[in-house]
Amino acid sequence: MTQAPADAEARRAVEPVICYPNETLPVPDMALYRDALAQAELVETVVAAPREACAFRVPAGGFFRIRSVEAPQVGDLNLWNANDLSERFYSGKTRALHGAHLTTGERMWSSFPHLRPMATIVEDSLDWYGIDAFGGSVHDVIGTRCDPHTHHLLSGGQYHHCCHSNLTRALADATGLSAEAAAREVHDVLNVFMCTGFTRDTGQYFMKASPVRPGDHLTFFAEIDLLGALSACPGGDCSSEHSSDAARCAPLEVDILSVPQEMLKGWQPPARNGYDGSHGM
Ligand SMILES: [Zn+2]
Repeated sequence: MTQAPADAEARRAVEPVICYPNETLPVPDMALYRDALAQAELVETVVAAPREACAFRVPAGGFFRIRSVEAPQVGDLNLWNANDLSERFYSGKTRALHGAHLTTGERMWSSFPHLRPMATIVEDSLDWYGIDAFGGSVHDVIGTRCDPHTHHLLSGGQYHHCCHSNLTRALADATGLSAEAAAREVHDVLNVFMCTGFTRDTGQYFMKASPVRPGDHLTFFAEIDLLGALSACPGGDCSSEHSSDAARCAPLEVDILSVPQEMLKGWQPPARNGYDGSHGM
């Protein structure tokens, strides 16, 4: 190992600065969303069966609510613009803007060149959890999604019920895409209800038993027309392992809710990002 310089401690003691101060982000009108949600009516409920995924559509101005039922269970969420699959959730930039874990008032942002809010979290029944003594918290945008490629790399074998494959099948069913084409559209997720962090000593990504219990929920306002897919992860509550049939798994339910559009006066879907796209050419 390299010999530490004489001023090593002084260098380590430098205070961090926030990469993306977010005071200038557009502020969602949470009072408007809360009032609208209070008037919302259930349109349908779709179910992600254990170790499977479901797809659902939510028009702009509607809500969707992911609910824990039966037993603790984490879910992997993908979002696309329902009219243009090339606009999809951008986990990495959402993490840069809001932090490693999302909660009420924070947003799922879309990929370049669009970079606009796709959905805003309006209710989080696990918002009491905060950050635990291990540095863990819920609803992360750190992890990617369990997938059969990494599983094969680390353990060999062919496992078909990782979230990546579940989301692939759900998207293929919803759109008519082939499995190969659908797999290319699946992207890094919001890990709904999952409790994760990085170990302090080695900086490794960790998971621990989710604090979610039946009745817990996470509710989103759809800022644009959305196609979503939610996988009930084969890891169950992610207390031990994923990418296998070993863990106890439960379904997750997704309620689609609509509100009278007069409840949303003053609101309109966010415009695509205003950068001119010339890249200096
Ligand atoms: Zn998974």
